Amino acid sequence: VACKQWNGLKGTITRNHGSHQNPSDLSFNTYKLVRFSEVVSGGKLCWYFFADQCRHCTDPPCMATADEYVSGAITKNSKTGAVIFTSKSDKLTVEQFNAVKEACPYNIPRRDSATGLMAKCTMCSDRLDKGYPPACVKSCPTGAMNFGDRDEMLALAKKRLAEAKKKHRKAQLLDVDETRTIFLVADDPMKYHEFAVAKAGSFDMDRKMALKKMIRPIANILRPV
Ligand code: SF4
Repeated sequence: VACKQWNGLKGTITRNHGSHQNPSDLSFNTYKLVRFSEVVSGGKLCWYFFADQCRHCTDPPCMATADEYVSGAITKNSKTGAVIFTSKSDKLTVEQFNAVKEACPYNIPRRDSATGLMAKCTMCSDRLDKGYPPACVKSCPTGAMNFGDRDEMLALAKKRLAEAKKKHRKAQLLDVDETRTIFLVADDPMKYHEFAVAKAGSFDMDRKMALKKMIRPIANILRPV
């Protein structure tokens, strides 16, 4: 709710499907979504929650892919690392947007079919510019989220992990080296969400892009004149 209020995003009409999951998915108007899973763990029924959002990857595959089509459709703030979808994103075709979404290891980008604009969490960059933390962090009453310089946050994450491990054998930090939104989970990440962690090879963009660039001149040679 804090995310929607700060970013002026519309509510979503939802239906009860017999689950606490509401709304059902991220959308152009929902940048952050608490995913709800009912799982059996250690013979007990458990409720798992996962606050899904853009991870603001350190080397974002979405940006590398979008750059192939429209330079500047996705940018990265050099000071905060926030990955931002710009107004140029409306120049991407549906197929190009699908390629960008496919490149994201966490299935985050969403698109407004009416305007063609893409949307996702902005790290509340406008708040950061004024020295305020993101709206979700500011409004969280239990301190489940923290925001700060990377080194400080990594130290905090490792400290919390050591505490969690005493009670939860499988506790782990997710994709620490590749992302700026770092999750600590108490159990197998797949029990929380199928895109909780990146699949192997998701961040090999340099190799994929280099390959594409090598193939393109060959394709140009083969193209009939
Ligand atoms: S999580 Fe997806 S959308 Fe966000 S920066 Fe990474 S690749 Fe881009």
